[in-house]
Amino acid sequence: MLSRRHFIKLASSSAGLLVTACNIKPSKKNTSAHVVIIGGGFGGATAAKYIRKLDPTIQVTLIDPKTQYISCPGSNWIFAGIQNTTLLSLNYQSLSNHYGVNIVTQKVTFIDPEKHLVTLSDHQKIHYARLIVSPGIDFRWETIEGHNESSTDLIPHAWKAGSQTTLLNNQLRAMKNGGTVIICAPPNPFKCPPGPYERASMIAYYLKRHKPKSKILILDPKSKFSKQSLFIQGWKKHYGFGSSNSMIEWLSIPDNPVINIDINNKIVETDFGDKFKADVLNYIPAQKAAHIAEKAGLCDKKGWCPVAHNSSESTLLPDIHVIGDASNYNPLPKSAFAANSEAKICAFAVVSLLNRQKIIKPTWTNTCYSLITPEHGISVSMIYKLGKNRKLNKVTGAGGVTQNTDKKSLALEADYSRQWLTSITQDSFS
Ligand SMILES: Cc1cc2nc3c(=O)[nH]c(=O)nc-3n(C[C@H](O)[C@H](O)[C@H](O)COP(=O)(O)OP(=O)(O)OC[C@H]3O[C@@H](n4cnc5c(N)ncnc54)[C@H](O)[C@@H]3O)c2cc1C
Repeated sequence: MLSRRHFIKLASSSAGLLVTACNIKPSKKNTSAHVVIIGGGFGGATAAKYIRKLDPTIQVTLIDPKTQYISCPGSNWIFAGIQNTTLLSLNYQSLSNHYGVNIVTQKVTFIDPEKHLVTLSDHQKIHYARLIVSPGIDFRWETIEGHNESSTDLIPHAWKAGSQTTLLNNQLRAMKNGGTVIICAPPNPFKCPPGPYERASMIAYYLKRHKPKSKILILDPKSKFSKQSLFIQGWKKHYGFGSSNSMIEWLSIPDNPVINIDINNKIVETDFGDKFKADVLNYIPAQKAAHIAEKAGLCDKKGWCPVAHNSSESTLLPDIHVIGDASNYNPLPKSAFAANSEAKICAFAVVSLLNRQKIIKPTWTNTCYSLITPEHGISVSMIYKLGKNRKLNKVTGAGGVTQNTDKKSLALEADYSRQWLTSITQDSFS
């Protein structure tokens, strides 16, 4: 049973979770409460661990089709040659061995919200008292012509880490000196808002050393992007941005987005008929909540899952909570940091609800680090809380972006970035 002292100790020791009120009392619940979690990424793994830490009498089952999870954070660094897939590979052994989480290696194919059942790919059915859905994103292939999931072996998105990242990296290594890399950035909202721009930086770092005549063109359907002034400052410093000899070019085309791809010739075509030829083409598609969330009826018309933020419970289906990239926590970005923060608040809410206690009044945190070179890091941080209108608001005066841009401070930011990756993966998976 969870004591008040134990609860407060956990709350205060949980990185990224600020608890402003806590009234949990001894349990009144049926002892066999079972929480099922779909998706063992940063959201699902963190929720599983923290529910078991908060109340070991609750059974937790974590379902994911893969035995190994490869972290997207850090995966852009592979292109610079300063990271590898093995170091980014995580598993669920610690969650099982240390916290007693029941791991099921299956895909969830169906959610029955009335009967409180999930069906797995092997047709097994599992009953839940509360369900947490954290399946990440899927792609809106309908927004592009000439390209879809089946041609990602030619045109990698590398927006789910693993074989796609390796494929893009191999294409970059095989490209001639003087080649053109085109990155097609996605429209908002998408997972990891600074990700395409960190990717351009990491590819530029590699090209500058090994293929210095090469160019990177970012075709962007947005007119601005995350940490833009810090990226541009870094690109000017390291990659000649803005000069006639710049390695990186950013072309903002909000009224003229890419709508067609000739996959065999790696030519992208925009709405007005402009054509750009790539030697390596990294098309990152528009995004929506993962298929299972859509199929279950958890998504709104925009393709994301609306939730009551203080509990993460779906506003469309009762007893189902949605966290991480699939959910709408706007203005929180879709990041691993945010998924971890949402998961802890969800864990507190689920434990409280099962114990028939009031839920806490939370605040959420996010920091997104990016590398421009291995010695030049930048970051943006923010704290969020519920406003009177029950919408999530940024806390005025909190957070901000990297302020000190001297060499030593930027090198420290790069170190913080690496240390953050170690600590978040341990917090979520160990
Ligand atoms: C290149 C790149 C770099 C990034 N860098 C950073 C960074 O530096 N910092 C940061 O904070 N964030 C970063 N992110 C964002 C981060 O990866 C995501 O925001 C985070 O992984 C979201 O966690 P999640 O749990 O919502 O989803 P995911 O981590 O995507 O996990 C979803 C899981 O659900 C499983 N799943 C899906 N459908 C089913 C189903 N039907 N049944 C069972 N399981 C299912 C999947 O197998 C997967 O394991 C980056 C992303 C990218 C692409």
